[in-house]
Amino acid sequence: MKFGTKAIHAGVHPDESTGAIMTPIYQTSTYVQDGVGNHKGYEYSRTQNPTRHALEKNIAAIENGKFGACFGSGLAAIDCVIKMLKPGDEVISTNDLYGGSYRIFKTIFEKYGIVFHFVDMQDSSNVKSFVNSNTRLIWVETPTNPMMNIVDIESMSKIAKSAGALLAVDNTFATPYLQNPLDLGADIVMHSVTKYLGGHSDVVMGALVTAREDVAQEMYRIQNSSGAVTAPMDSFLVLRGIKTLHLRMQRHCENGEKIAHYLKNHPKIDKVYWPGFESHPNHEVAKKQMRGFGGMISFTLKGNNLEDALSIVKKVHLFALAESLGGVESLIGHPATMTHASIPKEIREKSGVVDSLIRLSVGIEDADDLIEDLRTALI
Ligand SMILES: *Cc1c(COP(=O)(O)O)cnc(C)c1O
Repeated sequence: MKFGTKAIHAGVHPDESTGAIMTPIYQTSTYVQDGVGNHKGYEYSRTQNPTRHALEKNIAAIENGKFGACFGSGLAAIDCVIKMLKPGDEVISTNDLYGGSYRIFKTIFEKYGIVFHFVDMQDSSNVKSFVNSNTRLIWVETPTNPMMNIVDIESMSKIAKSAGALLAVDNTFATPYLQNPLDLGADIVMHSVTKYLGGHSDVVMGALVTAREDVAQEMYRIQNSSGAVTAPMDSFLVLRGIKTLHLRMQRHCENGEKIAHYLKNHPKIDKVYWPGFESHPNHEVAKKQMRGFGGMISFTLKGNNLEDALSIVKKVHLFALAESLGGVESLIGHPATMTHASIPKEIREKSGVVDSLIRLSVGIEDADDLIEDLRTALI
C-alpha cells in the first residue's frame, strides 16, 4: 500500500457497533469484564485505549514499522527510549540536537549513570571514535534544528550494528512522508507528533515506532510502567491530522522550495540553510535518504545584526512569531533569543546560531502571499 492510502486507512476500521467511519473517542479509563480476566482486549486506559491503539497502528504503518507507541509529548517518547538503558551504558548523539533532547539527556539521565557523548555526526569517523564496549544507543536527529544539517542514517546504522547498539532516529523534521529511518537500518523512530504529524498546532504528543519485537516489548513495558501516555481526544485529533499528512507535506515542500530560492536571491540575505540546495554541504546524503526537502528553512542577514533580525521577525504578518513548527500556518523564530537562548553565545555561534539567524516553518498558505510578507519585512 502506498503512503497516502496508508495515512488514511491504516489502523482504522468503521466502529463495529454503529458503523461510524471515524474512530470514536473512547473517553474511558476502564472496561467492563464479563468475568475475571474475560475482557475484549482492553482493561485499563494507561495500558491500552482503542482510540490510541488505532493511532499507534497508523503511525507504525506510515513509518514502515510493526509496533507503535504514543506518549504525552515527544520528550516522553525520548524518555522511554533512554529508560531501555541501564547505568554505565553509553549513548552517542549529535552536537546539534533539539534543545529539549539535550536537556533530558544531561539533566535527567546523566544523574542515573548513563553517559552521553555529543559529536558532529556529519562525519561518521567522529562517531566511530566514541564507540566502545559500553555503547548501547546511537541517537540521530536529521535534519537538525535550526541549522538543517543532514546525518547519513545508513552509515550510522552500520556503526550501530557493528557496536551491538540500537540506532534511534528523531524523524520529526522529515516526517515519514519524506524519510523512513527503519528502511535505512534504524531500530527505533521517534516523533514529536506535536509538529507535522498532528499538523494543526493543537496537540502535544510523541511517538515511537519499531519493527523489532524485543524492542517493542521493552517499549510497551516502559510506556505502561512510566505511564506517560496520550489522551483519547488527542489521539483522535492526530488520526485526523495524519489523513492529510501527504497533502500537507507536498505543499510544505513546494512552498519551502519557492521561499528558499526567493531568500537565496535577496540582496539583504547572507546564507540560506535548506537541504534542497546543491550547495548544501550534505545535499547528496539528503537526496539519497529523503524524498523531498521540507519546509524548514533558516537564514542569516548580511552584517549579522541582532536588531535587524529582531525587526524582521516583528514586521512579518502572516508568519507568526512562535516556538514549534510543522503546522499548517507559517511560523518564524529567532533561535539566538528563543530556542537557543540558554546556550552560551560562543558555543551557539560555533554551530552557526548567530545573532541574525532566523528560522522559518513554512506553512501551506499560498506561497505568493508568504513571499510578499517576507519581501515587505525585509525592506
Ligand atoms: C519539538 C521537538 C521535540 C520534542 O517534542 P515535544 O512534543 O515538544 O515534547 C523533539 N525533537 C524535535 C526535533 C522537536 O522539534
